[in-house]
Amino acid sequence: MLQLDVKTLYFVLGLLATTTGMVLVALSLTGRFDRWLQYWGISNLATGGGILLLTFRDLIPNFYSIVMANMLAILGYFLLMTTTHHLQQRQISWKPHALFLGLLGVLLMLLQDSNHYYTERTILTAIACGFYAINIAKITRNIAQEEDISAAYLVSGIFTFVALSFGLRILAGLTDQLGGDTIFAPGGMNMWMILLAATIAPLWNMSMLLMIMERINRNWIGRALRDPLTAALNRAGLNAAVENNALRRRSDTHATTSLLLVDIDHFKQVNDKLGHAYGDQLLRSFADMVHTQLRGSDLFARQGGDEFVIILPGSGEKQGYEVAERLQKAFAHAATKLKNTDIMPTLSIGIAVTQSDTLPHSLQKLIEQADAALYQSKHSGRNRVTSVQPA
Ligand code: GH3
Ligand code: MG
Repeated sequence: MLQLDVKTLYFVLGLLATTTGMVLVALSLTGRFDRWLQYWGISNLATGGGILLLTFRDLIPNFYSIVMANMLAILGYFLLMTTTHHLQQRQISWKPHALFLGLLGVLLMLLQDSNHYYTERTILTAIACGFYAINIAKITRNIAQEEDISAAYLVSGIFTFVALSFGLRILAGLTDQLGGDTIFAPGGMNMWMILLAATIAPLWNMSMLLMIMERINRNWIGRALRDPLTAALNRAGLNAAVENNALRRRSDTHATTSLLLVDIDHFKQVNDKLGHAYGDQLLRSFADMVHTQLRGSDLFARQGGDEFVIILPGSGEKQGYEVAERLQKAFAHAATKLKNTDIMPTLSIGIAVTQSDTLPHSLQKLIEQADAALYQSKHSGRNRVTSVQPA
């Protein structure tokens, strides 16, 4: 039967978490990272410090090796949950947690009599750590689902496992199967749990790091593919989106796709008379309006200046016209809300339709056709919609 020195295992685990925490806190001091790194670092320091204190049992007063040690370990879990909250850009309400932690502190003080209340203390700490582990698993699962970050599923899976282990510990405590009357009892359940923790701790930090990296990556990719002023796709974003499977899948069942090329009329005059800042505001309000009018599968991109591309998968010329006219009305309405002015900006629109299965390689040609239709709209007086039939 495997026999490991449990105290040494605790010591190594404590040292590992503390040094990781030191590195993370030192990095956070460079000021190049958001708040979450600080919480993450302090969380490791707290857990590591707590575990190290545990190993000094009988050498230092029980208050430090029991009450402080357990509280620091729990605080570490709490701070890790705070880190994930920050990653989700959500504020945490501190009060109930402060109350919960305060209550735990008092209970642990009452139960600090060394070997006497070992089971009660184990159960209490496992309940608190398990509770925070469940929350971390829940929050990271939300991040995974909302932002499509696969590494967040890994973090969530690891913390579900951690929460289950604490559940098992609670069960063992309740059924008197902790094995011995101290956490250092050789060969008992604690040895296996600490061995498990030592294996999982580097893994959880690594998976957190992967989750954060994947998130930053996604963020940058998202920015690289969008126009910063209007949040519409840029040309690279449009090409990428057209090639995206989702569009093709939808197109499979619908024969045609229509493309609208939209240009704001006399936009230069708007800039000249009302200022560039107002021009920017008008572009933003146009884009916001378009976002509210389109379906999830439609694509919206800024072609350049005051010209925009809208792709309506699965729709033909008739639906293209309907959407175009709806946009004209909604834009007129949105523009009136911006500023008290006589200038009434309008939209000229060109529509081209293609067989859905020829996208994405027909995209450029389709834009050229819509451009020719837009030219006609401009030349026949602006504020109108013209379409080109498929060749
Ligand atoms: P037309 O009816 O023929 O479209 O006339 P227009 O004045 O709208 O002419 P055009 O579309 O050629 O001009 C686009 C103008 O948009 C020129 C440029 O100064 C302005 N513009 C381009 N990008 C921006 C931007 O990001 N912000 C602002 N405020 N203006 C921009
Ligand atoms: Mg224009």
